[in-house]
Amino acid sequence: MRRKLAAGNWKMNGTTAALEELDALQEVAEGAAEVLICPPSTLIAQAAVRSGKVAIGGQDCHSAASGAHTGDISALMLRDAGATHVILGHSERRADHGESDALVAYKALAAWDAGLTAIVCVGETLEQRESGKTLDVIGKQLAGSLPDDVTASNTVIAYEPVWAIGTGKVPTTDQIAEVHTFMRATLVQRFGNETATGIRLLYGGSVKATNATEIFAVVDVDGALVGGASLKASDFAPIVTALN
Ligand code: PGA
Repeated sequence: MRRKLAAGNWKMNGTTAALEELDALQEVAEGAAEVLICPPSTLIAQAAVRSGKVAIGGQDCHSAASGAHTGDISALMLRDAGATHVILGHSERRADHGESDALVAYKALAAWDAGLTAIVCVGETLEQRESGKTLDVIGKQLAGSLPDDVTASNTVIAYEPVWAIGTGKVPTTDQIAEVHTFMRATLVQRFGNETATGIRLLYGGSVKATNATEIFAVVDVDGALVGGASLKASDFAPIVTALN
């Protein structure tokens, strides 16, 4: 059985005061679902010491273990600071920093080397969806962003339609089901049934307490990657509860 995962991505939000939100998540994190918060790098070490039942993750890492890469952070540094997961290939990184599928795959290797679980993000733009290319795009991103040594424990995949992120627009449950079913089948083909059926598939993009129950009922949705609604425990806790 795949353990459900509620992952919060704080993006470039939060200073020390935001760590109080972790305290407020403790009760809901006692449930069956795994709860993960990915704060900005500056907060990871402090978050890890007061995270309790909440796992802590990074939002990106470099593909190299160390070296002359000003401003970057390595997977090993995230691990050393107390992170257990790292988000890779988020559409904001792909757009703002020109990250390619190949680079995301190198980052996943670096994450695994450091003992982190990689949460690899894929998703189509509105233009791609409207021109009927959604499954082609997702298939290509999965093929290029995942190295061969994927296991059920070292990788989580998040389907995040770019047009649904931070917009309040959410795909229909049929649209989510179509992509998640396609992703599962694609993974089965490449990694075999046992590995593929163990990999958790998250949906992300404007998940809120009010739509979480409906989204979590969709076939092959094993949890959510939540941006805006993860910043406050009062918004995030009901999403976790919907998963529990
Ligand atoms: P959102 O962001 O929940 O604010 O739409 C999701 C994400 O980017 O992971």
